[in-house]
Amino acid sequence: MSITAIRGFNDILPEEAELWRRIEEESVNVFASYGFSEIKAPIVERTELFLRSIGETTDIVEKEMYTFLDRNGDSLTLRPEGTAPVVRAYIEHRLYECPVTKLYYAGPMFRYERPQKGRYRQFYQIGAEVLGDASPKADAETLEMLMRLFETIGLKGAVLQINSLGCPGCRPAYKELLYAFLLERKESLCVNCIRRMDTNPLRALDCKNPGCIEATKDAPPIAESLCADCAGHFRAVQSTLGRLGIEASINKRMVRGLDYYTKTTFEITASGLGAQNAVAAGGRYDGLVSGLGGPETPCFGFAMGIERVALLLKENGFLKRRPLSVFIAMGDEAELKGVELLREWRKKGIRIVEDFSEGSLKSRMKRADRIRARYALILGTDELRHGEITVKDMTTAGQERLKWEIVADRISSAEGY
Ligand code: ATP
Ligand code: MG
Repeated sequence: MSITAIRGFNDILPEEAELWRRIEEESVNVFASYGFSEIKAPIVERTELFLRSIGETTDIVEKEMYTFLDRNGDSLTLRPEGTAPVVRAYIEHRLYECPVTKLYYAGPMFRYERPQKGRYRQFYQIGAEVLGDASPKADAETLEMLMRLFETIGLKGAVLQINSLGCPGCRPAYKELLYAFLLERKESLCVNCIRRMDTNPLRALDCKNPGCIEATKDAPPIAESLCADCAGHFRAVQSTLGRLGIEASINKRMVRGLDYYTKTTFEITASGLGAQNAVAAGGRYDGLVSGLGGPETPCFGFAMGIERVALLLKENGFLKRRPLSVFIAMGDEAELKGVELLREWRKKGIRIVEDFSEGSLKSRMKRADRIRARYALILGTDELRHGEITVKDMTTAGQERLKWEIVADRISSAEGY
C-alpha cells in the first residue's frame, strides 16, 4: 500500500503553486508600497505564547492547537496564527525603539480543525501588522490596502464588515450585560458556550452552533456599550474609510475568534466559497504587546487565507495560461537548432520547455495545452530554412511566423506575460 498525505495537509501542485506565487508577489508589491517590510518568525513557538495571547477560552487554544513535548520536555506548539509570533519577535528584538513598525509575513499555520473545502489543518496565511500606531487612520489605511490588493489580484465581490470590541475600560460592563442576556437563554446554548459563559461570554456570539446563533440573535450589540474613546475611534475609522471610498458594513455580532482584539475588528468575505467565506480578517490589538511583556504599543493587523483566495481566483477564471512556452521541433535538424535558439531565448528571460515527444503535431499541441502553456513555438523544415518560427498563442489560437531574433521580445512584451 502506498503512503498518502495526512487529511487536511495538502500538496500544492505546480499550477496551483504558480497561482499562489502570483498572489504572494502581488501582496508583497502592494504591502511594500504602504511601507511594510517582511519578517520571518519560526513555525514553532513555546505553547505559553499562544495561551497568553490568543486566550485560554478560545476554540484555537481549547481544541485546535498542535501541541507536543520536545525531547527535553518543553511544551511547543506549531503556530496556529501569525500575530503572536510577530509580537514576540517585536518585543524580543526591541523593534519598538522605532515609533511605528510595519511588518508582513507569509507562511503555513496549523489548526486541528475539521477539514473541508476552504478549511485545512495546514493552511497558508499572508498577514500584516502595524505596530505603534493608535490612530484610526492606521485601521482605515490598512483596510484600504487590503481592498486594493483584492482589486489588484482580480478577486471580485469582496465585502468588508467591521465592528468594535471596545477596550478593557468598557468591555467588562458589556460582558456583564451579555452574561445576563445569555443566562436567560441558557437552555438554548451549547455546552461550550455555557462553560465559557462567565469567563468569556463573547465567545457565544462567535459560536457556529445553530442553537447558539438563534439564541443570541437579539443579543445587545457591543457597539452600543462603547466608552467615548472607543466610540470616537470607531466613528473615525468609518469616516476615514468613507473618504478613501471603501464601503464597510457594520456587523454587530462579529467578535472574532481571538481574545487579544480591542476596538476595530473586521472580516472580509467573498461569495463562492460556501460556508468558509472569510478570506481575510483581523483588527486592533492595543493590549497584546504590553500583555506579552513589551511596552504599551497600539497595533492593527490582519491575515488573509491563501487557499481561499486561490479557490476564488480559480472560480473567477483568473487561472490564465502560464507564462510558459513549449518548443516543438519537427525533425532532427530542427531539434539541433533548437538547442541553440532556446539558450538565447532563455538568456532573454523567456520561460520555455522542450517537447521531446514523438507523434503528430496535433498530439504535441495537446500536451502543451494540458500544461496550460501560453505559447507553442513550432520549428518545422520550412521555418528552419527561413530563420523563422511559428508562434502559436494558445489563448487565442492565433499564430504568426516570426524571425528568430524577435521572438523573445515579442513574447516578453505580450500582455500578462
Ligand atoms: P473562520 O471563521 O473561517 O474559521 P477564523 O476567524 O478562524 O476564520 P482567522 O484566524 O482570523 O480566521 O484567520 C484569517 C484567515 O485565514 C481566514 O479569514 C481564512 O481565510 C484563513 N483561515 C483560517 N483558518 C483556516 C483554515 N483552517 N483553513 C484555511 N484557511 C483558514
Ligand atoms: Mg476558525
